[in-house]
Amino acid sequence: MDNKNSLITKLTNLLSKLPNIGPRQARRLSYFLARYNPKILDEIAKLFWDISKQIGICENCNFIFEREIKNQKLCPICGDTKRKHKFICVVEKDTDLISIEKTGKYKGVYYVLGGLLNSFENDIDKSINLKPLIIKIKESIHKKEPIEEIILALNFTSEGYLTANEIKNQLKPYGIKITQLGIGLPIGSEVEFADTETLIEAFKNRS
Ligand SMILES: [Zn+2]
Repeated sequence: MDNKNSLITKLTNLLSKLPNIGPRQARRLSYFLARYNPKILDEIAKLFWDISKQIGICENCNFIFEREIKNQKLCPICGDTKRKHKFICVVEKDTDLISIEKTGKYKGVYYVLGGLLNSFENDIDKSINLKPLIIKIKESIHKKEPIEEIILALNFTSEGYLTANEIKNQLKPYGIKITQLGIGLPIGSEVEFADTETLIEAFKNRS
């Protein structure tokens, strides 16, 4: 049935690398796609091609963005001089940033960690990309306009708490003000799914 080099097997292997997709699900999805409208498949294929060529990762904040010019290094938020670069809001992932941007109220910049810590993983660097943020804060101390506040906008889950504590510990030596999103977000809630009003309140009530 399944030949190691068949297109379906190749697709299954690739799809199973995606988050939350197991091998069985990947195989089911492959067969589903194989029967799908060829025109739409062509469109998806072209879109994947464009994404791989035009998407960049911001050198400053790790946010995924679409390049408007070749070799663009900063995302539109970091490249915007009207944003307040002395406020850095730390989020787990790109979609959390999008949810906060939707509020239209936050005027600082961001830092995307790329994950959260969990109690099973001992290697911090494997779970979160914290080092560049620490370097940035270290360097900022000597600058004319140093970073004033780090706002932790992490999920209200055990992973979120664990990550917030680790960041606070690692940033302690630099004496920088660190706040966390406040009341409004119930325990267990995730930033990405919080509604706009709740997020605005949580920002106002940060402490
Ligand atoms: Zn950026």
